[in-house]
Amino acid sequence: MAAINYSAFFSKTAKARKESPLRQLWEDAGEDIGSYINLAGGMPHEDTFPIKTMCLKLTDGTVLEMDKETTSEALQYGRTPGHFELLRWLTKLLKIVHNPPTLQDKSHPGQLDMLMTNGAQDGMYKILETLVDEGDIVFVESPTYPGFLAAALPHGCQLVPIETDENGLIPEEFSRALKDHSTNSGKKMKFLYCVPNGGNPTGICYTEDRKRLIYGLAREYDLLILEDDAYFFLESKPYTKSFLSLDTDGRVIRLDTFSKTISAGIRTGLLSGPKPIVEKAILAMQTSSQNCSGVSQAILLAVLQHMGHDGFFAHCEKVAEYYRRKRDLCVNFAEKHLKGLAEWNVPSGGMFLWIRVKVTNDSCSIVTEKLRNRKVLMVPGISFKINSTIPSAHIRVAYSYASEEQMDKAFRALAEELRTLATK
Ligand code: PMP
Repeated sequence: MAAINYSAFFSKTAKARKESPLRQLWEDAGEDIGSYINLAGGMPHEDTFPIKTMCLKLTDGTVLEMDKETTSEALQYGRTPGHFELLRWLTKLLKIVHNPPTLQDKSHPGQLDMLMTNGAQDGMYKILETLVDEGDIVFVESPTYPGFLAAALPHGCQLVPIETDENGLIPEEFSRALKDHSTNSGKKMKFLYCVPNGGNPTGICYTEDRKRLIYGLAREYDLLILEDDAYFFLESKPYTKSFLSLDTDGRVIRLDTFSKTISAGIRTGLLSGPKPIVEKAILAMQTSSQNCSGVSQAILLAVLQHMGHDGFFAHCEKVAEYYRRKRDLCVNFAEKHLKGLAEWNVPSGGMFLWIRVKVTNDSCSIVTEKLRNRKVLMVPGISFKINSTIPSAHIRVAYSYASEEQMDKAFRALAEELRTLATK
């Protein structure tokens, strides 16, 4: 298979981006930057900051002290790709979990590179900015995460929905869409966006077989894959192989996040993928937030180093168990209140129950509006569709946060609204 011509995938914006000469000086110095007399950067002096050291108290009572040096570094501007030590920890994590073929081979044109992002949403935005021009074709699993639709649509790309079933994106549908659009003169097919674990909103986890078929199609049509695995660590071991772990060509861009396992508020995520693409995303980061918050990276590193890799997996398993209990409660209340009114599959991961309402094909927005008036928030299925004018008989329930009592109340209210609708 011929090497991927990455520049054919770049947007006009990405092609026009240039390295900041100042940041390049910093990058060239690498980890040795501390030994330079640095008169280049307009860095504020940390001695003027009112914070000296930081200290984290963990839920198990452990206290993690950050000394003056670590704190000063965290409070200062940081290199754009991310903190060296943190990236090393995360590289090891990727190696343990995915063992990506593009990590081993230093001569691979799509050798794996990484960028610390302000959450997966930020990484996704940087990729859209890097790859998409008006009119480009982007394939999207359907239904999908509305945060992606909201980020992608204003770029003027043509989003092509691909239906999913309980095993993930349907390869036959994908194949048909690829065939149809490959003959679409002048339009470049850029990538497939998917959430392969604990899908938002469906809770679907793609099987390995599906991933292999989808990857095969991406190879055949020379397409990239944007693997948004925000719910990956809410799965239990042994993890299903990721697209990244199958990626011999260097066509997978992966988004990870610590929002679901460490903290959503610190806004930390990891973008990993072929170096030429990650380099462009780094340039986009240089001109937006410059770098993922140093304080957030320091917090993340302190917690991860304290846990160690095995400890991190054990922690994730506890988090996954927590959400499985929440899921079971949610499903119990759905069974208690919604029998005959709606149906659903029990999700194996993630945070969502995707409910298909039986009593109507198109009034879910009205139902969720009525619920809102009763101070119950659920999201109508239409929000997860590319074409928001096509009615949807679905409602998404997030079971991650509400208490048992609140869930009971919410499902009772939903059942009442559906009964009212059924008798109209
Ligand atoms: N992708 C998916 C599928 C999500 O559900 C979310 C969060 N709702 C995100 C990305 C964004 O996560 P983050 O907090 O890491 O930006």
